[in-house]
Amino acid sequence: MKKCNNCNIMIGGNTDTCPLCQNMLSGEASPDNWPSPRRLRVKAFAYKLQLFIVLALTTIALSLDFLLDLNNGKHYSLLLALWLILFEMDLSGNMKRPFVVSRTVSISTFHLCILLLVTGWFLGFLPVSAYIITPSLLCASLAANLVFTMTDTTENALVYLLGNILLVIIAYAVLKLKYPEPGLLWTICLMLGFVAIIGTVIFKGRKVSDEIQKRMNF
Ligand SMILES: [Zn+2]
Repeated sequence: MKKCNNCNIMIGGNTDTCPLCQNMLSGEASPDNWPSPRRLRVKAFAYKLQLFIVLALTTIALSLDFLLDLNNGKHYSLLLALWLILFEMDLSGNMKRPFVVSRTVSISTFHLCILLLVTGWFLGFLPVSAYIITPSLLCASLAANLVFTMTDTTENALVYLLGNILLVIIAYAVLKLKYPEPGLLWTICLMLGFVAIIGTVIFKGRKVSDEIQKRMNF
């Protein structure tokens, strides 16, 4: 800690002058107690700068695409805009709230699935997106959330695991309505969802119903 010889007080952190009398401090600096306002300002500025660049580029791309119609009716700028908007949503979500790994994994996976489905539809590889990439990503996210739920004591991961299971069941049901055979990967995904339900009920028991009631405000 540093010392002000004028006021005879000890001052934590790495400041050069006394906050009371502005005298120069003596002694060794100690680690800062809080992130410095300057660092927070730099972080906020960096965030705003990238947001400005992204929105400016998106606007230019949309304008060129729609006003000049360079791609004969295929509006690729909409695809670009969707990718950038979801990227910005993930970025601001992670910056504004305390980092929760299960939330980041779940939401990013969900966004990535949407993006790959839309991109697949746009560029002509929808079957690959729908039958291979999406169920694989959802399987990975389910497995990760199952591990997070088993190791997490705050029950944050449990909510995302339940959401993930619900998403898989809904996606499977929608696919099944349209196509009688949704494919091996979707079937594995659904089975993993059921296994995850069994696992959470056995290991987390009452916490599952408590958490659902809490979230639904019963
Ligand atoms: Zn002082």
